[in-house]
Amino acid sequence: PASPGTPLPTTLLGPNTGSSLPSPSKTLNDRVALIRGDITTLALDAIVNAANRSLLGGGGVDGAIHRAAGPQLYDECRALGGCPTGSAKITSGYAIPARKIIHAVGPVYDPFDPAKSERLLTGCYTRSLELAAAAGCRSVAFSALSTGIYGYPSQEAAPAALSAIRRFLVGPEGSKLDKVVIVTFEMKDVEAYKEFIPLYFPPV
Ligand code: ADP
Repeated sequence: PASPGTPLPTTLLGPNTGSSLPSPSKTLNDRVALIRGDITTLALDAIVNAANRSLLGGGGVDGAIHRAAGPQLYDECRALGGCPTGSAKITSGYAIPARKIIHAVGPVYDPFDPAKSERLLTGCYTRSLELAAAAGCRSVAFSALSTGIYGYPSQEAAPAALSAIRRFLVGPEGSKLDKVVIVTFEMKDVEAYKEFIPLYFPPV
């Protein structure tokens, strides 16, 4: 897992508008973007943490979020009593710019049962979007859940994530969100998302 420390420059790689034509607002691909950078610095309504079942912090992005948010986050998380794999819980953002933190527990990738891994991973994305919408958040940034320490291949994680995001945005609650941003440190995730975003969110 990448360890932050020195903040990375945040580079906007999307949205995928595909041409120089002005894109109509509120089209699906206006609403999905890819950023390479540090999720703890983003001033969106909510960020999604790649947490573990204890919700008490860990390595990777989880550690970075707990360090940036401060000790009050640990106290609120402890009171939540953990979270099952494939689901998520929401807290305040405390010292980070985002108002809310959604703690999603992705699966450890199981190469012998990729269908189960996918079900659990898509569950995280869907539940996180539901929690964001229910809390009145209009913009949400996702970490690349499970693709670090949990070993989920980026080439499989990206389409699973995008399919869940798309299903939510076209569904009955979809209009509650304006922007979904994928945030990653790693080129393997950037490459996977650059490949799959145009398939799930084609240029208008
Ligand atoms: P998991 O245990 O779910 O695999 P990790 O934290 O190990 O979670 O990795 C999830 C992804 O988050 C990885 O792609 C990792 O490089 C990335 N990452 C780590 N720190 C940050 C950060 N500060 N901002 C954004 N992404 C990060």
